[in-house]
Amino acid sequence: MTTTTTETTTKVIDGKAAAKALRAELATEVAELKELGVTPGLAVVLVGEDPASKVYVRNKARASEEVGIRSVQHILPETTTEAELLSLIGELNADSGIHGILVQLPLPIHINEATVIETISAEKDADGFHPYNMGRLLTGSPTLEPCTPLGVMHLLRSTGVETAGKDAIVIGRSNIVGKPVAVMLLKENATVTLCHSKTANLPEKIAEADIVVAAIGRAEMILGEWIKEGATVIDVGMNRKADGKLCGDVEYAEAFKRAAHITPVPGGVGPMTIAMLLKNTVSAARRIHKV
Ligand code: NDP
Repeated sequence: MTTTTTETTTKVIDGKAAAKALRAELATEVAELKELGVTPGLAVVLVGEDPASKVYVRNKARASEEVGIRSVQHILPETTTEAELLSLIGELNADSGIHGILVQLPLPIHINEATVIETISAEKDADGFHPYNMGRLLTGSPTLEPCTPLGVMHLLRSTGVETAGKDAIVIGRSNIVGKPVAVMLLKENATVTLCHSKTANLPEKIAEADIVVAAIGRAEMILGEWIKEGATVIDVGMNRKADGKLCGDVEYAEAFKRAAHITPVPGGVGPMTIAMLLKNTVSAARRIHKV
């Protein structure tokens, strides 16, 4: 298929540009909040030396500062005990200058992730992983929602594609991506099929979907030929190929030929996640200060 430059621009969903626009809006909102005496503050906690996590934490701090959010980082050694981490979270919960708390996952194996997530005050849960916030999402009155799923929905909306009445398929059922995305799509009145590693006849199910969200973590596992003509494809996957290059869960080149809209990897969902973290921090600050 030959594609003109104009078609390409509208077809490829530009997550980098969408995130930049969102950060610009947030910068304006933060400036207004500062006029009212509220400076949103985000605390990011990292335990251990995982190189990828270190990069994520640094990027989060940089993006926070760019929009005017006060950023505080706590880098703790791998040997930190669960009790020490919970104690720090207790201090951050009580700190009136902090409105968002994020503990970078994964944690070392001697620390229970669920305990940590549940210790973060629900109103400062910038990642939206606390069972209270998950429950609010499930019952249809969301407060703080998980960032990557929010990014997925933002990109989907940016295409102008109607979700109501559409068949959507989500592949992956993790608590941080697949499940919340499925609930959000349901809230937008899509008819949702949620798939996982035990799903039978995955290609046939994908072939029927108007909206495909892939959140698996397996390089190019979703073949382009499975995609229905004119479908919208949002690829959350972040995988490294043998040659070191990043790729998604969808076989992009083939899927591109069939999809009406598709996110690239990198440059699709990835940049949206941090932008949504900042948005959550700002809305937490608004809610806490009632402004
Ligand atoms: P998890 O490993 O927690 O979940 C993967 C899901 O994929 C599971 O539900 C699993 O099924 C399912 N799965 C595995 N193999 C298959 C298969 N062969 N067929 C169908 N389903 C399968 O991953 P995450 O949800 O944390 O992340 C998914 C991807 O998204 C990863 O590549 C990750 O790097 C990326 N990601 C990107 C982010 C971003 O900002 N862009 C943020 C978060 C994640 P089962 O439950 O049965 O095991």
